[in-house]
Amino acid sequence: MHSRVVVLGGGPGGYAAAFLAADQGLDVTLVESEPRLGGTCLLHGCIPSKALLHVAQMISQVDELSQQWGIEYSQPAIDLDQVRNRKESIIEALAGGLAQIAKRRNVHVIQATGSFIDSTTLQLTGADESIAIDKTLTFDHCILATGSRAAIPSVWKSDSPRVMTSDQALQLTDVPSSLLVIGGGYIGLELGSVYARLGSNVHLIEMAEQLLIDADKDLVKPLYQKLDPLFSGGIELNTQITSITPQSNHVDVEYQTPDGSQSKSFDRVLIAIGRQPNSLGIGLEHTAVELDDAGFVQCDSGQLTSDPHILAIGDVCGHPMLAHKATSDARMAVKTLIVDSNDPLSGCIPAVIFTDPEIAWAGLTETAAQRDQIDYQVAIYPWAASGRAQAIGRNEGRTKWLIDPQTNRLLGCGMVGPGAGELIATAVTAIDQNWTVEQITESIAPHPTLSETLSGAAEVFLGEAIEIYKPKRAR
Ligand code: FAD
Repeated sequence: MHSRVVVLGGGPGGYAAAFLAADQGLDVTLVESEPRLGGTCLLHGCIPSKALLHVAQMISQVDELSQQWGIEYSQPAIDLDQVRNRKESIIEALAGGLAQIAKRRNVHVIQATGSFIDSTTLQLTGADESIAIDKTLTFDHCILATGSRAAIPSVWKSDSPRVMTSDQALQLTDVPSSLLVIGGGYIGLELGSVYARLGSNVHLIEMAEQLLIDADKDLVKPLYQKLDPLFSGGIELNTQITSITPQSNHVDVEYQTPDGSQSKSFDRVLIAIGRQPNSLGIGLEHTAVELDDAGFVQCDSGQLTSDPHILAIGDVCGHPMLAHKATSDARMAVKTLIVDSNDPLSGCIPAVIFTDPEIAWAGLTETAAQRDQIDYQVAIYPWAASGRAQAIGRNEGRTKWLIDPQTNRLLGCGMVGPGAGELIATAVTAIDQNWTVEQITESIAPHPTLSETLSGAAEVFLGEAIEIYKPKRAR
């Protein structure tokens, strides 16, 4: 078998690359080891987690209504089978759509595991009958999109179903009475929130001094204040796990806090300490592809690796490990194949934490600016001044711009509050388009909406905010 382009991996990087390459008239084969397309994002990540988080959010809104707003509901009764089935049906609908679109675009999809024999040949092993006779697939170019998997230190590896990664946690086989979440990154916080809202006593342990280590402290604070009571087992920072010992009906865990060592038993443990690239065991040593020390594939801004036949996209080639970055890489890789260009598409990759409240940022963060000694000024709009935020009872939010003091150009935006993940898209456009702080105030935002906080923060900077008094700056 020969294909001009072979895409290895059918996640949001791989299927996007295959579809876009086919749209350019290239002959494309997509090799994916799972029976369905969609990758981590659709099958084990973004989509199932958001389906469950939406349920969690409905439960939390009922709680809030009952407690503060004069409407009483009885405690929700949770039908776990139905919650799980709804999540599965969303995945099924989207994966089915991808399979159909692949057919309509004439992308040849093979269900198999691919491994490089050399720079232009893959050995395929797997379930697909079409490869029973000829098990090698040659190509002019391969787009490597094998993604990533949960990182687990070898001493914590276990066959016990009580020790889970996000893959098992998203199966939602039951609601454990107690759950230890190891890791205060976005996966730990999102899945911890789901289980806490469904009724687990969640305890979170994080090695660093704050949750979401890359996020700005002022954005994390309102989230911490909400999660601290929700995670009724407690949130422990600056704390390291020293041992995990699964037993038949619980898991024993020992950990070192700043005040000394502790031990506790949990019904289940979720390990969410990060993800590692799927770059080992796929024969890359038979090619000229180079990996960095963490195993990420090295590639240039056109996604070309050091092997002229192989491009790499998505999680396998580095941070940020996000679906929309994988898709953007896919566009770039196809552009490289077609026009041999490596002008980057966009530098501004937004990040969203889909907790309640949500945290979102784009462009420069204060954490990065301080670390890299980049000069900036900050303009903050506290949501307490927003009529919409007050009306929905969410005045803990804030929107801020980071601004270049020399040019007034918008360098970055950070937000915390419900819907921050939707609002950040406007900031991405403004930053990508090199807008100045003045330009963001030139468009009229509808009232009363949370989108007003974006122009509001810019008006605060210029001393022109109506609901907030701040002395005027020189234009
Ligand atoms: P993947 O999606 O990992 O796809 C790689 C594919 O390659 C897989 O299907 C795999 O089976 C296949 N494969 C691997 N090796 C081989 C081989 N040798 N042969 C054949 N096939 C192979 N990102 C966001 O942007 N927003 C979110 O809200 C979000 N939530 C997440 C929640 C969770 C719980 C997790 C775990 C991740 C989440 N992510 C989120 C991250 C997102 O899922 C990844 O960044 C994204 O899926 C990366 O896409 P990819 O195409 O690079 O790789």
